[in-house]
Amino acid sequence: MEQLPVLDPGERDYQPIAGELPSPLAPPPGCPFHPRCPAATARCRAEVPTLRQIAPDRMSACHLNDRAA
Ligand code: SF4
Repeated sequence: MEQLPVLDPGERDYQPIAGELPSPLAPPPGCPFHPRCPAATARCRAEVPTLRQIAPDRMSACHLNDRAA
């Protein structure tokens, strides 16, 4: 929920995403965000998520979308 925008940014306490950006020349297997994702699972480490439309004008590539479907 920390990523949701708020109208009063003065009240916001931002938390940086832990970890380092992966090398674009040698991205990790599976989802390239999995080393830094707090919701990563074994599937995320092995399988690249498919980019798909999740709402009008909204695209997402995340295995968590399968839970909502
Ligand atoms: S697929 Fe989704 S849940 Fe899995 S690592 Fe990537 S962003 Fe995180």
